[in-house]
Amino acid sequence: MRACIHRGSKEIGGSCIEVEQSGQRILLDLGLPLDAEFNTPRFLPPVRGLDGSDPSLLGILISHPHLDHYGLLAHVSPAVKVGLGASARRVLRAASDFVPGEWPLPNAGWDCRSGKSFDVGPFRVTPYLVDHSAYDAHALLIESGGKRLFYSGDFRGHGRKSALFERMVADAPRDIDALLVEGSSLSRLDANGTFPTESDVETQFADAFHQTHGLALVHTSAQNVDRIVSIYRAAKRTGRTLVIDLYAAAVLEATGNTNLPQSHWDSVALYVPHTQRLHIKKYFLFELLSKHSHNRVFERDLSGAPDRYALLFRPLHRNDLERARCLAGAHYVYSQWEGYWDRGMYDYLRAWLESHGIPRTCIHTSGHASPRDLKTFVQAIDAKHVVPIHSFRPDLYPDLFANVEAHADGEWWRV
Ligand SMILES: [Zn+2]
Repeated sequence: MRACIHRGSKEIGGSCIEVEQSGQRILLDLGLPLDAEFNTPRFLPPVRGLDGSDPSLLGILISHPHLDHYGLLAHVSPAVKVGLGASARRVLRAASDFVPGEWPLPNAGWDCRSGKSFDVGPFRVTPYLVDHSAYDAHALLIESGGKRLFYSGDFRGHGRKSALFERMVADAPRDIDALLVEGSSLSRLDANGTFPTESDVETQFADAFHQTHGLALVHTSAQNVDRIVSIYRAAKRTGRTLVIDLYAAAVLEATGNTNLPQSHWDSVALYVPHTQRLHIKKYFLFELLSKHSHNRVFERDLSGAPDRYALLFRPLHRNDLERARCLAGAHYVYSQWEGYWDRGMYDYLRAWLESHGIPRTCIHTSGHASPRDLKTFVQAIDAKHVVPIHSFRPDLYPDLFANVEAHADGEWWRV
């Protein structure tokens, strides 16, 4: 078995690994580079058969539904099979109703289920569900020609599914020849650094909601399902109803997990902002709307008792909230990567918050393993070779792990 990292050996984003055995090939991830301003085919790695013309490309396995791992699927022929988590596939399908054409929909292919192996030509693939900020994320074990390659995908040990991390460490896949392990956190924390846990985040939210006399606005991604759970639980702890829009309602339903907050739950309500109402009309999403309207609230509800709600906020809510006159005493909590603010992407939002005198707080934790957890993970797997991927600091790997063998983008190597 041979492998080539097309992108990701020294950067976060655009992850793509090609694996070859007896002339047959699969790809692991086909991500959009993080600095790509547009999703164009010119970012495609030089892989034969992405246009469907070469059957020795057997398919593409996607570790999880984050754009830096699947974004370039937009430019792949429908003839190329794609495998990913069954729930992840449904979430992307549900999300696509709200951003038509913007996000690629994975081609038909394989449904990854944790612990269930399947064969793709000469490759035996075994997905392992991992704790990450994307729903239904997997690490992938690829076996062929008597060799075993383990690709970590993105993962962490401090989220709501930290038990998966503990289980992996306690009963790690062994006899691994090459471990491709992400190192996102290495450019952010020192060797013993850790991140707050998702339960810490829940407590911080509860404190923030408690201290807020008006509407709590929480700005996060509806696809970060772990975070939605933290916000929901904090809202419940402080007597607030979590208000979601139709997009979030559809994503939560698409997980197929009835233990996750859903639009018909008692402490959840649906509020449909104006631009979404127009979108529903334009794309005939009336059935979806009626399915999620069990606990629908309107502007008068928000303005009548803003302190009873925690709204999953998106910038498109601004006009609606102004019109509803429900912003007195409001508090805005940003709960995503702060880099977007540092890059000036939300300058317009800063101005809007200031014009209404709304304070801004950031409550967040990383979707990636801390260096300490990475060390525990790599030690448990004890692979013959540890190959850096998805990190801006591959140079730090030898300080943390034994048997590091770095491979540059585009270099083919024997597993
Ligand atoms: Zn990710």
